[in-house]
Amino acid sequence: MDKTIPNFDKKIVMSGIRPTGFLHLGNYFGAIRNYVKMQDEYECYFMVADLHSLTTHPDTKELKQNVYRVIAENIACGLDPEKAAFYCQSHVRETAELYLYLNMLAYMGELEKTVTFKDKARQNPENINAGLLTYPVLQAADIILHRASYVPVGKDQEQHLEMARTFAIRFNYRYGNVFPEPHAFNYNAALVKVPSLDNTGKMSKSENQAATLYLADDDDTIRKKIKKALTDGGPKEKNSVMPDYIENIFLLMELVSPQEKIEKYKNDFNDGTIRYGDFKEDLGNDMVNFIAPIRQKATDLLNDEKRIKEIMEIGAAKANKSANETMRIVRDAMGMNY
Ligand code: AMP
Repeated sequence: MDKTIPNFDKKIVMSGIRPTGFLHLGNYFGAIRNYVKMQDEYECYFMVADLHSLTTHPDTKELKQNVYRVIAENIACGLDPEKAAFYCQSHVRETAELYLYLNMLAYMGELEKTVTFKDKARQNPENINAGLLTYPVLQAADIILHRASYVPVGKDQEQHLEMARTFAIRFNYRYGNVFPEPHAFNYNAALVKVPSLDNTGKMSKSENQAATLYLADDDDTIRKKIKKALTDGGPKEKNSVMPDYIENIFLLMELVSPQEKIEKYKNDFNDGTIRYGDFKEDLGNDMVNFIAPIRQKATDLLNDEKRIKEIMEIGAAKANKSANETMRIVRDAMGMNY
């Protein structure tokens, strides 16, 4: 086979999480849950996006600890470093080279229009750096560096993925067919968005911490946060329309509680007899049962720095092998092989 013709039949998976804080329920259900399932079925590359974190978190005092935490929490959720390549972005230098090439194919106008860029620029007007503008280019480089087709991400990443697709297509058009088109992947038809407990948006690593459930939260904190979730006095009549903030807490229950319980509370809602105090207590207990074992495993691993380093080394070796192969093909295709 011609060495420049890639094998698009093999489905490769790639995704990343930034080490910018504690992982939460949104990261788990939007991303990690899929990673864990996919590692048995596909060739998977999962990455701690430390370079991306520098676009908004230039202070690196806590970076190492945050990288370790993300690694420990992903492993605690079931990611297996022997099955997937689980690595740190900065350990694969080819990422920076591909990012540079892709920057020549990305236009100012399309980058400036990105919703996440506009949001972050508004939140941090004193640090609108070029890295922030080209964030989707770096993300595209991460994905296509392994010639991935499937990208398990949450709904918040849809636009970035569309851009990664655009850059891959543009590269192929200009230099030859090197990259498959990457697409968002979710086992369910719809991409998941885990809402915050106060109905102001989504759960997040750094914003709105009181309304976000973290995988490191202790039992008491989990129960307290859920108790404070936005509810009301209950429906005034039978078969009322469910307000969005009540839909949100039902959505959380669907993530961690048994189906019979969800049905019972839905029936109570439709009968107009639901008691949100009981609902929250039940949800709190189920959430504790879900989060506590993950928290415990992550804590144990965080105390074992040697093992964390070993996990990163195993991952970097696999990712570098794939990256080197892709970049050889890229340089050949571009004529950068003199
Ligand atoms: P980030 O926290 O921005 O580094 O995102 C890491 C992964 O978690 C990405 O795949 C996101 O799509 C996903 N994610 C983050 N927050 C949420 C949320 N509230 N609901 C669903 N997915 C999320």
